[in-house]
Amino acid sequence: MNHPVQPNHRDQDIRALCTHLIPPAPSGPAHLCGSPALLGQAFCYYHHPARRADTNRDAYRTRCRDRRIARQSFNLPLPTSRRELQHSLSEIISLISTNQIDLRRASLLIHALQVASKNLRE
Ligand SMILES: [Zn+2]
Repeated sequence: MNHPVQPNHRDQDIRALCTHLIPPAPSGPAHLCGSPALLGQAFCYYHHPARRADTNRDAYRTRCRDRRIARQSFNLPLPTSRRELQHSLSEIISLISTNQIDLRRASLLIHALQVASKNLRE
């Protein structure tokens, strides 16, 4: 008995599909992306090599900026009075607002100033 061939929507679609191979994962085996490809290209918007290069470039710039901020040194007076304590706090706030200090480092310094503030009160 012959079965009529059912039309396959994918065979009739003239758009090119993305050929990016998605690696196997716990959720399923390796498979092709299958999203519509950019006009005249082999990949969709998300898997086009130009997009990946931009992402890498942005990540590289972010890493460079973070390293530069982490290496940056600055003078912070040792707080021996409430006035110097306030001055140090102002300096740290200024560094945070201009994105010139690592937030973890700023957090540690502010904590140290809190301890100094308690000690000055006693
Ligand atoms: Zn794709």
